[in-house]
Amino acid sequence: MPSSIHGFGIFAVKEFKKNTVLTEYKGRSLNNDEANRIEAERGEDAETYLFRVSKDRVLDASGSTSLAHYINASCDPNAEAVIEDERIFIVATKKIKKGAEILLNYNFEKINGGFLIRCNCGSRFCKQFMDINPSLY
Ligand SMILES: [Zn+2]
Repeated sequence: MPSSIHGFGIFAVKEFKKNTVLTEYKGRSLNNDEANRIEAERGEDAETYLFRVSKDRVLDASGSTSLAHYINASCDPNAEAVIEDERIFIVATKKIKKGAEILLNYNFEKINGGFLIRCNCGSRFCKQFMDINPSLY
């Protein structure tokens, strides 16, 4: 379904309670060298699909059949990414009504230094740039 934020978004088909696991963010597991190479090849767009799960591993969701990587980022999210054993689970942080767009704080981090990712979420809480997750450094 088209989202007002960016490309396609993911919308709740039913109501979800707080703390429900909505989906798993699946991808190919890469080591840092592989992730850095992909990031260099794809440039800024790579960040959208590369998701760090530990100091040594990054999941690459491009080409994944899981839809989790279509979830848009927001500074006023209703879900968060919980990393467990190098897997990523998308968990509701509040009650999500049927039909609401699932929005995530991606807590992006830079794999190889460099750029911040601009946020277009349109929330009145928008911080202009997506958050960096310091716990993964
Ligand atoms: Zn924002």
